[in-house]
Amino acid sequence: GKPLLSIRDFKVEYRTGSGATVQAVRGVDLDLYPGESLALVGESGCGKTTFGLGLLRLLPRLGHASGKVIFNRGDGTEIDVLGLDGRDLRQFRWRDAAMVFQGAMNAFNPVLKIRAHMHDTMRAHTKATRQEIEDRAGDLLRLVRLEPERVMDCYPHELSGGMRQRVLIAMSLLLEPEVLILDEPTTALDILTQRSIVDVLHEVRERLGFSMIFISHDLSLAAELADRVATMYAGRLVETGGVRDLFYRPRHPYTLGLIKAVPPIVGDLPDLESIPGGPPSLAALPPGCTFNPRCKFATDECREAEPDLVPVTDQDGSAHDVACIHWKDVHLDREARNQDLGTAS
Ligand code: SF4
Repeated sequence: GKPLLSIRDFKVEYRTGSGATVQAVRGVDLDLYPGESLALVGESGCGKTTFGLGLLRLLPRLGHASGKVIFNRGDGTEIDVLGLDGRDLRQFRWRDAAMVFQGAMNAFNPVLKIRAHMHDTMRAHTKATRQEIEDRAGDLLRLVRLEPERVMDCYPHELSGGMRQRVLIAMSLLLEPEVLILDEPTTALDILTQRSIVDVLHEVRERLGFSMIFISHDLSLAAELADRVATMYAGRLVETGGVRDLFYRPRHPYTLGLIKAVPPIVGDLPDLESIPGGPPSLAALPPGCTFNPRCKFATDECREAEPDLVPVTDQDGSAHDVACIHWKDVHLDREARNQDLGTAS
């Protein structure tokens, strides 16, 4: 079928204080299919959040998105997202696609109760009656395992971080968007609370059937929630594929490094390897493959040209897309790691 979101040569540029421009997202091609859950993974500073903000046209004033983003509405309408403005853009943002940001506190108005947030959001976009809004908000709050009677009369600061995050998820679903973008949905929460958010996301997605892009530095979260994973580095996708394929047969040294930094769910704790160094400054990218200064597979050839994201096929016939000229040499030694995907299926 048709993708819900079709993204081509998507770029985001920022103008810096000195008037120079920096490319934070450097040409991303990606399709999101109806009902699919896609994880966008990478360290902070790789352009993941900018990508999400750019898709929903929420960039700060000095940011500029270009390329092509087509949203195919369930009713058959085709929307050119980067061409939207005014009313159409506001409509797109809540009804077609909504975003839940990290740091749930900033998304709330501290002097308004949760009830007012729910009513304001619905009234800004629909002609729903007071009772309809109460009912819809109540249903969604129960779906994220909160008691509406309790939560609706609270101010944001009266809720725990995990509860606020769940309220935000409920709020983002008020207008029944077809795509939900979540930015680090569990970061800054303790392990148990993270667990409950993951369970809640599983449940609401099963019930409501929306597509999801979630942005995370946490690969174990990706393993639990995603059907497909895209690894981002220095503003580009360097590997994309099915979640199992990427976890068991990563072919980009960066994905491999991210996997090796995740503690195993079963078995003894191995020595976790972190990737040396950090992501490059977007204002001064290394020549050739941008990962080369950190890559143990790098050769002189890697410093000559930036590899394209191309489909590769393994001996067992599995295929995914990788941007690395030495992908054949990259293997995850699964035995030595004794790591499993845990609850992912
Ligand atoms: Fe490493 Fe070269 Fe592959 Fe880049 S192209 S990831 S430097 S091996």
